[in-house]
Amino acid sequence: MLTALLGGTFDPIHYGHLRPAISLVNEVGLKQISLLPNHVPPHKPQPEASTEQRLAMLKLAIEGLPLFALNVREILPETSTRPSYTIETLQAWRQENGNSEGLAFIMGQDSLLSLPTWNKWKTLLDYCHLLICRRPGYAQKTDNIELQQWIDVHNTTNIKDLHNSPHGYIFFAHTPLEDISATEIRQNINNQVSCENLLPPKVWHYIHQQGLYTAKK
Ligand code: ATP
Repeated sequence: MLTALLGGTFDPIHYGHLRPAISLVNEVGLKQISLLPNHVPPHKPQPEASTEQRLAMLKLAIEGLPLFALNVREILPETSTRPSYTIETLQAWRQENGNSEGLAFIMGQDSLLSLPTWNKWKTLLDYCHLLICRRPGYAQKTDNIELQQWIDVHNTTNIKDLHNSPHGYIFFAHTPLEDISATEIRQNINNQVSCENLLPPKVWHYIHQQGLYTAKK
């Protein structure tokens, strides 16, 4: 059984994050999924919800779901002006948990395609496996030759590989296609279009109670 991390801005968390992650539990065999909210440094476009609000929504989303945990390493302290790199989180995880336990990092197909912009991206697999969730509108192949070659070298379709080695493989999962994005949710709320069915009811109520995503742009 692998431990998994699922990083994101979660502005807000939605079923496009949760449903593919839950389906990975059976497909791959995961013992826990830690949601890892990103710190967005001041020079980057800021999330509309505050750090506190994003954390509150994550807590509400996973309430009563022991499969999920919350890892606040990247989001706190809020005052940090420096980006929090995934590679550093993975290194810290290995320092705390050793090198023999299996670790997976879950991401959507869009994130995989953006990987060459990540710090030290090619070394991610020295610390974890990558579990890739399908996402509508994003192709499985990329025109970026360097990325595609790297994927081809590390790709496996054999789940046993993910359990026989603590890190090093890329696995394209058969997760459900969820045509949901946080951007669309924020826009819908701003336009007073209901999108209640796209995220957990407690998160939906919190968004309304806090008046989130309604500011006119
Ligand atoms: P935004 O629309 O603001 O860019 P988002 O909906 O993509 O946000 P993030 O918090 O940026 O959400 O995503 C966190 C992770 O979850 C990323 O790896 C992303 O690829 C993945 N993810 C988000 N939505 C989906 C989805 N509908 N299907 C599969 N993966 C998803």
